[in-house]
Amino acid sequence: MKKIVFLFLTTLLAACGEGGFSVEECNVIGESGDGIMPLKVVTNRDDSLFLRRQSRPLLTEHLESAEFEVLCERMLATVNDPLNEGVGIAAPQVGLDYALVAVQRFDKAGEPFEFYANPAIGWRSESMSAGGEGCLSVPELYGEVMRHDSVEVVYVHPTTMMPVTELVTGFTAVIFQHEIDHLSGTLYTDRAHTITRE
Ligand SMILES: [Zn+2]
Repeated sequence: MKKIVFLFLTTLLAACGEGGFSVEECNVIGESGDGIMPLKVVTNRDDSLFLRRQSRPLLTEHLESAEFEVLCERMLATVNDPLNEGVGIAAPQVGLDYALVAVQRFDKAGEPFEFYANPAIGWRSESMSAGGEGCLSVPELYGEVMRHDSVEVVYVHPTTMMPVTELVTGFTAVIFQHEIDHLSGTLYTDRAHTITRE
């Protein structure tokens, strides 16, 4: 019996090791078709501390792994939860401290969600505007936040691994700023000048 368990564990370790994710991380990622992931929320102390972590960069072995595809599939299911819909999501919100965000591209036809690995803000416009924001990890609250009207987003292309630079404006730029903040443990409530209950 012990031997069987041991064999099972080594198989599990090998499968996860290839993708660069640990066994624990693979357990969080789960399987294709598992659907909506549990969200980390500020109303839970342990979750709240997790949300404050600095995310780690995704490496080539992560991006090329089957687990990465499952993670994107399940993050997409989570942000599209009809009972709790969002316009963006960051990996720390589903319990993985990696630099990965999904942003709904309101500036593109069909308004698709797109994933960005290791994203960062480069240039920021001097002009800023106030706008309303909520967050899947901050239940029942809503805040007014000042954001740059335009930003340059730098991220890693998922197949070529080359850096890509893109200029985004308007609401899409707001979502990028909100989601990229998550990767350094910053929540919109840290920047909001007013916070109200929904
Ligand atoms: Zn958020």
